[in-house]
Amino acid sequence: MSRILVVEDEEHIAQGLRFNLEADGHDVVIDGDGDDAVARLVERHEPFDAVILDGMLPGRDGYDVVRALRDAGEYVPVLMLTARGRAEDVLRGFESGADDYLPKPFELAILLARVRGLLRRHRWARVEPDAASSRRLTFHGRTLDLDALELHVGSERYQLTQMESDLLAYLIRNNGKAVSRKAILEDVWSLHEDTDTRAIDNFIVRLRRYLEDDPTRPTLLLTVRGVGYKMEKLDAPEKDTTKAR
Ligand code: CA
Repeated sequence: MSRILVVEDEEHIAQGLRFNLEADGHDVVIDGDGDDAVARLVERHEPFDAVILDGMLPGRDGYDVVRALRDAGEYVPVLMLTARGRAEDVLRGFESGADDYLPKPFELAILLARVRGLLRRHRWARVEPDAASSRRLTFHGRTLDLDALELHVGSERYQLTQMESDLLAYLIRNNGKAVSRKAILEDVWSLHEDTDTRAIDNFIVRLRRYLEDDPTRPTLLLTVRGVGYKMEKLDAPEKDTTKAR
């Protein structure tokens, strides 16, 4: 049984979620506003396996709540509920540190499937970091642990959100190939709406802070003008030092 916090001010939605999550075998706690949720998770450190967080809440909204959690080093998986067709809301949720999103109104079966997905990832993240089954990507002396959502750079270890990890893995796997912002939106976040793709740039800035020796002069995660971004190719042929002079 998992313990799930639902943060939702609309009583009928909150009770509907409680009914169905409990029917799915979970223990459910409901908060009606963002301040209560932050007090519960950050100040009182109450343990939860996942949080379902409405974006629009009275007082401190869902985006502020998830940011407060991540700022406090609290990495409980968060599913954000957003307004339908508002790609900017979705991106705002990811930028704030949410792991997944579902537009309202949602189908209950889909919500329950998403919650199961979050809980499964959370369980992987708790396995031993050196377990043989751990999925890792090694690139340029750095390691991305796709199960623990951790990035290891030298002796530093950074906790990523699911979406940061997904974006980084996507760039690594495209190994040296430039990918457009639109391709990132579609392939990483399954967003097909026309949207302000500059929102992606904020993610890149954050990843560079983790990855690069000097984030202002990136040598790994490169901007490709007029296209988007690329990760410096692995196993590049030896540089032609004659041209470096
Ligand atoms: Ca609401």
